[in-house]
Amino acid sequence: MRKFIVTGGLGFIGSNLINILQKKYFIINIDKVSYASNHNNIDPYIKNYKFYKQDINNKIFIQNILKKYKPSIIFNLAAETHVDRSIDGPRQFIESNIIGVFNLLEAIRSYNKKIKLIHVSTDEVYGDLKKNYKSKEEDSYNPSSPYSASKASGDLLIKSYIRTYKVPAVITNCCNNFGPNQYPEKLIPTIIYKILNKESIPIYGKGENIREWIYVKDHCDALIKVAEKGVIGENYNIGSGITLNNIQIVKKIISIFKNINYDRKVKSKILLVKDRPGHDLRYCLNSSKIRNELKWKYKSNFDQRINETIIWYIDKFRNNYFKNKNFKYRIGQKT
Ligand code: NAD
Repeated sequence: MRKFIVTGGLGFIGSNLINILQKKYFIINIDKVSYASNHNNIDPYIKNYKFYKQDINNKIFIQNILKKYKPSIIFNLAAETHVDRSIDGPRQFIESNIIGVFNLLEAIRSYNKKIKLIHVSTDEVYGDLKKNYKSKEEDSYNPSSPYSASKASGDLLIKSYIRTYKVPAVITNCCNNFGPNQYPEKLIPTIIYKILNKESIPIYGKGENIREWIYVKDHCDALIKVAEKGVIGENYNIGSGITLNNIQIVKKIISIFKNINYDRKVKSKILLVKDRPGHDLRYCLNSSKIRNELKWKYKSNFDQRINETIIWYIDKFRNNYFKNKNFKYRIGQKT
């Protein structure tokens, strides 16, 4: 059985990826266990699995894991990921997203067996876009927040290691994900939790910021495709082509709550709050490369998936799935 390392596997995307991969592969999950991590995110019946509570900055540990398991692939999803937190305190973002990547690269460089690094990055590295423009893989990076700058720096370090040391890596840049297992401080779970708590829904600025939205399991399918067929040294954009502004998302979620006959009337109203500093207005990806060269397709229906996501969160809300309920960093509630 092939062995894969997933770093950050207790987080949102990493756990969804592990739950898919574990059906065919042995998975080694390395996660430092932060506020965003949850062991319940992992399939309770998982068999081919080993978890290590470790920081990717521990190079000796990573080197020993490589020697012990001889994995063929490392998916790197270990990162600090919330833009608001990066604005309030960038240091951890530098540590995980830049120095952590550097450590992984050094561990791989000193390991002389065949291995492929799939590094998961974001569309935010391309920066704010003009109307109708879609970022292409060859575009230069133009990050705006400490989060996106830290991700961009990690990507650039990888590109340099590919060229200079021939480290076999591939970078993926994905748009905004939604679906189960996401800690409720990002936009979609925040809206859902605010409705469930009968609170007003805080939205930055005028709510006109546009993002492209992908269902998390489609993103995971794309990552598996990149692991199987992605060409070393290449970048692949991963997008759905579905773009919505924040007000449109809130309205959609409220209308779904009404349609599914949630047992309380939706009382929540939109509350426009002071905008995030440096807030990019628009991201959008040109994903034709992964579609044409790797034959990946976005399969999900947005409305159906957002429906399922809402139902998942309603269930988890009732069962106290997210133990720390002081979601201090939800939009407009920074401390
Ligand atoms: P998340 O915040 O839900 O999970 C990240 C996980 O990484 C957490 O469990 C955390 O404990 C772990 N981690 C952080 N630093 C670590 C370190 N130094 N060592 C070990 N573990 C560490 O994040 P997510 O949304 O699942 O994002 C995963 C990756 O995907 C990130 O690289 C992010 O930049 C990228 N990405 C996310 C999105 C999105 O919409 N969520 C979109 C594009 C790209």
